[in-house]
Amino acid sequence: MTIVTLEQVEGEIARGFRPLRFTPDIEALFRKDYVAARVRLIAIWGVVGVLIYDLVYFGDRAMVPDVLEELVAVRFLMFTPLVIGCALAVRRWPNARLYDLLAVVVAVMGVTLPMAAATNSASPYLLVYQNYNSAAFLFFVIALRPRFPAVLVGLALMCAAHFTTARMTGAFDAVTYAGIVTFYLTLSIFLAVSAYFLERTDRRNFLNQLRGSLLYRQLEDNADRDELTGLLNRRSLARISDAIWNDAAAQPVVSAILLDIDHFKRFNDVHSHIEGDACIRSVSDCIRDTVGDAYLVFRFGGEEILVLSNGLEPLQVVAMAERIRTAIENLALRHCGIEIGCVTASLGVASAQPGDMTFEKLLQNADDALYEAKRRGRNNVAPGNGLQPNTLVA
Ligand code: GH3
Ligand code: MG
Ligand code: MG
Repeated sequence: MTIVTLEQVEGEIARGFRPLRFTPDIEALFRKDYVAARVRLIAIWGVVGVLIYDLVYFGDRAMVPDVLEELVAVRFLMFTPLVIGCALAVRRWPNARLYDLLAVVVAVMGVTLPMAAATNSASPYLLVYQNYNSAAFLFFVIALRPRFPAVLVGLALMCAAHFTTARMTGAFDAVTYAGIVTFYLTLSIFLAVSAYFLERTDRRNFLNQLRGSLLYRQLEDNADRDELTGLLNRRSLARISDAIWNDAAAQPVVSAILLDIDHFKRFNDVHSHIEGDACIRSVSDCIRDTVGDAYLVFRFGGEEILVLSNGLEPLQVVAMAERIRTAIENLALRHCGIEIGCVTASLGVASAQPGDMTFEKLLQNADDALYEAKRRGRNNVAPGNGLQPNTLVA
């Protein structure tokens, strides 16, 4: 999965992306978005394109009746199945390069096939007839909208095919032929320049959208985090605990470790409130580093921290609580207000299966166990729910 940061997107906006290319990660996302938008439109453009292309049959009948059979074969037996096949291929394999390639193939064939059939015609209306191809040029750039390099390649090949087949008809003198070439070259230049600016606008819109969604996600994430510690906050607990509790079928046991720093009022009194904040931050970092990714850590209250796990063995969680307690003690944060001389914490542990009780009851059990740990003299782990300390696993 490609992960893009807000800084990367803002850097890209500032750079201006003039060569119509982003840095690789953003380019990968853009291509995904680009091809998804094209796939959404492919059915409609396929139908509209083929319908118009096949309706030109009436023009064929009026202007070049002497090659009508070839043109019927070209329109209905070759071009129509080609477009349907390409549309199905893009839906089956939604890939930006494949889309661009097939758009070029369809456009070049669309220009070449009827003109190739017309090379055998002796009709006096070939000058008007070849004008039809300008619609194919417009359709290619404005409706199919491939990326700019594909537009350049497509227009060059379409011009080459048109000029060659027009000459092969033998129907145009030098001046008329020069007029045809001038017209299609002018049209191609105009379309190429337009395609460049259209793609720049597409890319700018894409970046702005990406920036918007990243900003929104950042905002959401900030709202879920406690400012002092960076831990998840109480506000996010309701949402996350709901999700955990409802995921009970997959992860049957939920455990809660409730931690409270010992004699913290005294810490503030002796060391100041500012040092108290720093202490809460250090303890929070320590807990986060100790538990790793298998646990969720919340700032539950002032100097109370809640650690949740889902699907772990209860005794494994009690062992983790003990590891947290030791890690905090080993931090050796100076606490001059108590005999031991360093910051310690008491922890209560409780586990439950969501079918057996409410989440609030689980927290209440963890709180009761914490109270028990305080009562026993602090700086220890009290396992609730019949989890015995002498059965701890290391
Ligand atoms: P015990 O061992 O029984 O837990 O004693 P305690 O003094 O820690 O008691 P209690 O848990 O009730 O006290 C919490 C104190 O934590 C009260 C408050 O001054 C302090 N506190 C709460 N939030 C903050 C905070 O964000 N920063 C600081 N510096 N102190 C806080
Ligand atoms: Mg407290
Ligand atoms: Mg306390």
